[in-house]
Amino acid sequence: MLYLLNPRKRISKAHLWTGSDTFCTMFNTGGMRKEKQQLFDTPLGKKICLMCSNVKKRMGNYE
Ligand SMILES: [Zn+2]
Repeated sequence: MLYLLNPRKRISKAHLWTGSDTFCTMFNTGGMRKEKQQLFDTPLGKKICLMCSNVKKRMGNYE
């Protein structure tokens, strides 16, 4: 699982990355500043975006 987050912003959420967008689709709908976001394979201790984790849960056991 890849996490999309802004490592420079202390209070920010880690979004779950589907491969082309975040699970909450905020990346492609313009809800975040793309140039500040980077992909990591750990959430760097940040909280996971609630919308992302809800969408992932709805998709079942997809990992
Ligand atoms: Zn999200």
